[in-house]
Amino acid sequence: MSKHLSSLLLIYTGGTIGMKQDPTRKALVPFDFSQILEEVPEIGKFAFRTDSYTFDPLIDSSDVDPTLWQALARLIGERYDDYDGFIILHGTDTMAYSASALSFMLDGLAKPVIFTGSQLPVGVPRTDGKENLISAVEIASARDSEDHALVPEVCILFDSKLIRGNRSTKVNAEMFDAFRSPNLAPLAEAGIQIRYNNDLIIKPSDWDKPLRVNPSLDTRVSILKVHPGITRQTVEDILYGGSTRAVIIETYGAGNAPTAPWFLDCVREADRAGKVLVNVTQCLRGTVNMDLYATGKSLAEAGVISGYDSTTESALAKLFHLLGTYHDNDTVKTLMGRNLKGEISK
Ligand code: ASP
Repeated sequence: MSKHLSSLLLIYTGGTIGMKQDPTRKALVPFDFSQILEEVPEIGKFAFRTDSYTFDPLIDSSDVDPTLWQALARLIGERYDDYDGFIILHGTDTMAYSASALSFMLDGLAKPVIFTGSQLPVGVPRTDGKENLISAVEIASARDSEDHALVPEVCILFDSKLIRGNRSTKVNAEMFDAFRSPNLAPLAEAGIQIRYNNDLIIKPSDWDKPLRVNPSLDTRVSILKVHPGITRQTVEDILYGGSTRAVIIETYGAGNAPTAPWFLDCVREADRAGKVLVNVTQCLRGTVNMDLYATGKSLAEAGVISGYDSTTESALAKLFHLLGTYHDNDTVKTLMGRNLKGEISK
């Protein structure tokens, strides 16, 4: 591995990591990232230049919306040639959505874009924030013998694990291991040494090709979570929603849903209206397989397409991106079935 020191841009959007105890006000206040090297001097061991960009206002990630994703994608596009990698400090609540979205919006990525955050503010003695940030910086700076980034992907670094952004989901609101990648092994794990899972890491087809930023997003997507006792009215409200172009149907197990004739009629009707209907399982692990049970088969026959082993976060972000890019829903359906950025095992 090359020992070249990198230049990194640290982008701070908000969230717990950026809080620090103000001794005079005796309260948590946002941390001034222009002072980052004073607070976390270890960063200087990996990066010769660490610039920061702070969003204004800083937000709790529960307030994230697609305009932040567009701003992030544009910022990375504009500064792409100036840095070897990008670290995005972000609240944990919606980090999996944001990392998924960026993975689709940045095309031809040859540099790391690593999201991280923490469960405890960086100014608190037992914080997980420093370790997360230092590991993210080390990984974002890592290069191979040909001077290419070791992980040129959009990822999340949390609790010593580097996971693909569009495979991630938040699973823990309490402990430090907040994130999982249920259907794909970590891309790297930071123990005594950082072990990279090189076979899983996606590399660009051409390292020198410029980055393409696709900021267009269409958010006309709804989520229908099936559950025992779901009413026809609820299903109709979600599936027929006037402007909705696509619905993620969160199903049971391998992609199963009620077989009541009224339920399938609603699905058929939505399909006839041209909506993109995507089947994503409520299970954390495993994949949708609509051939397995009669209940799943009926959905496929009614026009529902498989989301395979996608997380809901990734399916939502992929739909926003594809609907924003293509006006006809048939193209969107075709591309939903393709593995675009490592988001499904296919
Ligand atoms: N609510 C906070 C946020 O997502 C939690 C965190 O940062 O971990 O911004």
